[in-house]
Amino acid sequence: MVLRPRSHPSLRDYGIMVPVSPDTTARILEDLVSDPKLARAQERWLLERDATTVTREDALRVHTKEYVDRLWDPTSREYVVMEGYELRAPDGSYHRYDPNRGRIPLGRLVDQLLDVAGGTIQVLRAALDYGRAFYLAGGMHHAMADQPGGFCIINDIVIAARALQASATIESAWIIDTDAHKGDGTAALTHGDTSITTLSVHMAEGWPLDQPAVRPDGTRNPSFTPSDIDVPIASGEEGRYIPRLEEALEALDEFPRPDVAVVVYGADPYEHDGLPSAGLLRLPLETMGVRDRLILDFLTARDIPTAYLRSGGYGERAWEPVAQFVAQFLHETLGHQTLGE
Ligand SMILES: [Zn+2]
Repeated sequence: MVLRPRSHPSLRDYGIMVPVSPDTTARILEDLVSDPKLARAQERWLLERDATTVTREDALRVHTKEYVDRLWDPTSREYVVMEGYELRAPDGSYHRYDPNRGRIPLGRLVDQLLDVAGGTIQVLRAALDYGRAFYLAGGMHHAMADQPGGFCIINDIVIAARALQASATIESAWIIDTDAHKGDGTAALTHGDTSITTLSVHMAEGWPLDQPAVRPDGTRNPSFTPSDIDVPIASGEEGRYIPRLEEALEALDEFPRPDVAVVVYGADPYEHDGLPSAGLLRLPLETMGVRDRLILDFLTARDIPTAYLRSGGYGERAWEPVAQFVAQFLHETLGHQTLGE
């Protein structure tokens, strides 16, 4: 199953100039339906967004009350967006933000992201119903309990896992994060919680690990909270990526089998990704495919329902690894369905 996000304005419509290609989702779907078999079977695999949204109560299971108040307040939410997308330079000038080019007030982006996060809850449920499902959005893994970061305003991943726990739909989850950037928000939000096990394979250096490890007030920067399993890959070590991921999955296998796995996909380790801050990890398309195969086979062999979130992926070619993987994933799923008919 593939869950299509609702159609939303692009970041450029808000005046935010980050290299997110507004049509990545459309490009992935276009590529999938260029395959005649997938085109014919479209109604068997394409899911549309339902009415699931993230409520204040859902957000409060993950974020602090003070932060949730800021997100729900029509005035202060705009500042949260400025902070999360780093739209102001230290000297106070605008950075990658041009209010004159935006046609929608910045604060409205929060509603859009809450809707995106509603899709994350929906795709976890779809994974439980169908075995596996890929959401062409979501994966805002840098959002912390009390602050946004790295283009992430709310942590939809942990919000969705906690929502399903609250409704007694699941007890436990694994979160496997293969985005180029460390899943720091997810690690910090679930630290010490044995019901959620986190694995993150990411660039050893660069954002978010290039910040001071200790904040000015002496507290630890939450970006440095360890995941249950961290796999930092240094620049130039791409050849070791797959063996190190294999070792990490073996380590994950020592943890109890969860009710659901969430894979924070991340197309940004791809060598043709357009975001400079993901440039320290450059995997060829073939290695991206080996990565994806390894994780899918690992979870399928253990019969763990799996939800994928698209997560990072920037520029004109971000669609390529995603389309490659989802096509393979759909062919297998449809193959099984045909056998069962
Ligand atoms: Zn990323």
